[in-house]
Amino acid sequence: MDQTENKKERAKERREKRRQEISLLRSIPYSGNQRWWSAETIAVVTGANRGIGFEITHQLALQGITVILTSREVAVGEESAKVLQEGGLDVGFHQLDIVDDESIKSFCDWVKEKYGGIDILINNAGVNHNIGSDNSVEAAETIINTNYYGTKKMIKAAIPLMRPSAQGARIVTVSSRLGRLNGKRNRISDDGLRNQLEDVDNLSEELIDATMTKFLEQVKDGTWTSGGWPQTNTDYSLSKLAVNAFTRVMAKKLSTRSESEKIYINCYCPGMVKTAMTGWAGQVTPEEGADTAIWLSLLPDQAVNGKFFAERLITRQLIIWIFLYLHLLACNIPPLSLSLNSSSQFQFNFISYSTQPAMGNCFSGGGHGQFAVGGTSSALDTHGRNEAVDNFFKSRDYNGLFYQIELSLSATNLRDRDVFSKSDPIAVVYIKGKDGSLQELGRTEVVLNSLNPQWITKVKVTYCFEMVQTLIFRVYDVDSQFQGPEVKTLKLDDQQYLGECNCHLSQIVTHPKRSWTADLVRIAESTEATRTNKLGQLTVYAEEELVSKTTAELTFRCSDLENKDFFSKSDPFLVISKNVASGTTVPICRTEVLKNNLKPEWKPIFINISQVGRKDNPLIIECFNFNSNGKHDLLGQAQKSLAELEKLSSSKEGENLCLPITVGKDHQTKVLKGQLFVEKYSESVHHTFLDYIVGGCELNFMVAIDFTASNGNPRLPDSLHYIDYSGRPNAYQKAIQEVGGVLQFYDHDKKFPAWGFGARPIDGPVSHCFNLNGSSGINPTVAGIQGIMTAYQQALSNVSLAGPTLFGHVITSAATIASQSVAANEHKYFVLLIITDGVITDLQETMDALVKASDLPLSILIVGVGGADFKEMEILDADKGEKLQSTTGRVASRDIVQFVPFRDVQGEEMSVAQSLLAELPSQFLTYMRNNGIQPKTKLQTT
Ligand code: NDP
Repeated sequence: MDQTENKKERAKERREKRRQEISLLRSIPYSGNQRWWSAETIAVVTGANRGIGFEITHQLALQGITVILTSREVAVGEESAKVLQEGGLDVGFHQLDIVDDESIKSFCDWVKEKYGGIDILINNAGVNHNIGSDNSVEAAETIINTNYYGTKKMIKAAIPLMRPSAQGARIVTVSSRLGRLNGKRNRISDDGLRNQLEDVDNLSEELIDATMTKFLEQVKDGTWTSGGWPQTNTDYSLSKLAVNAFTRVMAKKLSTRSESEKIYINCYCPGMVKTAMTGWAGQVTPEEGADTAIWLSLLPDQAVNGKFFAERLITRQLIIWIFLYLHLLACNIPPLSLSLNSSSQFQFNFISYSTQPAMGNCFSGGGHGQFAVGGTSSALDTHGRNEAVDNFFKSRDYNGLFYQIELSLSATNLRDRDVFSKSDPIAVVYIKGKDGSLQELGRTEVVLNSLNPQWITKVKVTYCFEMVQTLIFRVYDVDSQFQGPEVKTLKLDDQQYLGECNCHLSQIVTHPKRSWTADLVRIAESTEATRTNKLGQLTVYAEEELVSKTTAELTFRCSDLENKDFFSKSDPFLVISKNVASGTTVPICRTEVLKNNLKPEWKPIFINISQVGRKDNPLIIECFNFNSNGKHDLLGQAQKSLAELEKLSSSKEGENLCLPITVGKDHQTKVLKGQLFVEKYSESVHHTFLDYIVGGCELNFMVAIDFTASNGNPRLPDSLHYIDYSGRPNAYQKAIQEVGGVLQFYDHDKKFPAWGFGARPIDGPVSHCFNLNGSSGINPTVAGIQGIMTAYQQALSNVSLAGPTLFGHVITSAATIASQSVAANEHKYFVLLIITDGVITDLQETMDALVKASDLPLSILIVGVGGADFKEMEILDADKGEKLQSTTGRVASRDIVQFVPFRDVQGEEMSVAQSLLAELPSQFLTYMRNNGIQPKTKLQTT
């Protein structure tokens, strides 16, 4: 292994260790017994209608806190709040735009009047319009005004409202590591300014403001590139740097307040989170991104102030204490609560930690607490929800955009490297990152003495439709001296390399037999190319994990429940929980509360089998009597797995409810008269996108290119159509390559219809839909992605750019092909990519065409290139605005458009394809479900 590989290997090990540390940290309960908050505690979250803000609201409300979800758009915010309220959580809503003084004032007046003040403020609202280093004045101003000045205004307005309490009020701001002063690759290069910003004793708000003003002035006069500002995401990084510095300034000011009026202010980086801001391309879920905010808000003994956190940590030193904590927990020794005092020294307090979460911990006990939570049928209905709501369900596996795939490997005719016996092969699977680095996904077991191994150990990979995922398979012969220890610890460098092969995951999953075979080749260490030398063949078989598709529907009833209420009968409800590794239980769902009923039968609940792991994993079913103060009485409990509940249902027998009681020092179980029955048990399989693809359904790619004159003369370098023969693709070429690069694998014949619009073909009038292949006939197809690229370049020399920009014609052409396919009973879904530089002139005609097309197997992806203001185009993308309506008043049956301005996705972290294609599988599934179309292959059920 050469030095670079060594380095990469070490970096990979460090990353893996860090990942493990983080997940350990996140598994530590927020408070244990030191729960200082209650339903009276008021938390406010800004920008909470979606993303991390929505998840913070959700998590705080799950803790039993009253949370006010705020959003600048009333309708969207109300809808987001509603989904949490329907889950029984105490969530209020109010409009709040943090850059609008009036809005802040009216919010503060309202909160003072209605709640008397605030205990926790989470500054989450933020924007990042401009990825990369091409700051426009408008983007820089919006980002700095929102992220820094807006957050500052909100903090200043909220401080007078923060209520005195023993544990202190809390302000937590969602910031970013990009705003660190001493980042290695992304920092202010002026040492003097950096030192000033770091020097908390002399740091002032004026200095921070002056730094922002200087930067914005340089953006305006075009000199900012030589100003020594952070190199990537410059305006965003600076806005967060200002937020971090302002946190230090405020912490110092607030530290002078009296003990009873303490306010603690801190900020944190949530990691790279899968939200709209990153085009869903992050590494962590919004739930994980919210974790540190919840932890900082709820710390039992919070004296830490003015600090920047990442993953609950300010320094790596803390990790040592965390391990100690976990170790004690594992040894059943009463664990420690870790607290941080003002000088960042760590203190331990021994506390007794109850493994059973107090009621109200997970479900609010207030007036809203009487509805079913999680696992209800409504959870599966995703129609008409906004993005935040969709995301809420997405993160709970209800639409399955990401699938776990298990790869089974086998090989034939491997080379024999052993002298006295045959090779002992192992296969290792890697995934290739954007930067070319390899990340190991897993390895098989070692098969002894075999040149035709069939490995049993499966390797798991998460399939992401919108990305081209390159897999590398390497086969080694394991030296006998290394056999025996865990394969994970085997040093691959010490083994004999037998060869490798690579492919895209989509090549395997789109194969009718889900399998793929290739020759093993040997990649030479030197510059020598690959050398095929009878190294054998590797076969990969892909299978989707079936468990996630199956949902069980259960109807519970109870008989002879105990009466706990004086003047009426008990108000029972059920809570269903699962055991987790640490020995604690985690609630999965609960039923609605039935009033005055000792023989209740609740509405059906739905449990996805992936929620419980396996059908035979035990579930704890507890029956409570509802009390509005949140202290519900346990009426009885039973422990049964889904498999046992299914049996109960078919036998019609009841299960006795029990009650844990303490007699002296003994813990005993009292069997009650009351019984639990399962009136109905059924399982259904929800087909996934891959079921259809494996069943032979094709995605047919089509493309339409804007040839209007506003693109500029293609011969000049400033034209959007300029072909740079040095190989750097223009935005049109890039969008075709990226989107086509993903979709081509799903199109069997790879013959793509390709059109141009807004130009005058030689000697003709302006055409709003002409064949890119130059033919005037009815066949607009070209062969492969390369065919589109060639036809596009030829068209540039054969047509004169003109205008206006009309989409109606190309959409109608695509819709005609889609409807012919439906008439021919083909199993196909069409995807039209429109690339344009301008705002359309035929908005209403386009909407009419889209409303019609919404009934067809068609999705439309629009990429806006260049600097135009594409606001109007967003109307077409129903995610971002109202549902589309035609001139006749007909409303689109589903959202079929995804619009992305190219400039928003030019960063390193996400691609045009990822942002555009992310929604495609759910649009596809909605079409299939709306039309009752089943996948062709018969599915096995679990
Ligand atoms: P999203 O874009 O999903 O959410 C941002 C939220 O902020 C939206 O609700 C948005 O409202 C709201 N918002 C924007 N401007 C205003 C305003 N003027 N007043 C009130 N609300 C506003 O992003 P994330 O959830 O990813 O980001 C949340 C926070 O986390 C941001 O501060 C971001 O900088 C930070 N962060 C995110 C990272 C990530 O990887 N995602 C990494 C590091 C930090 P609307 O829907 O109306 O636009």
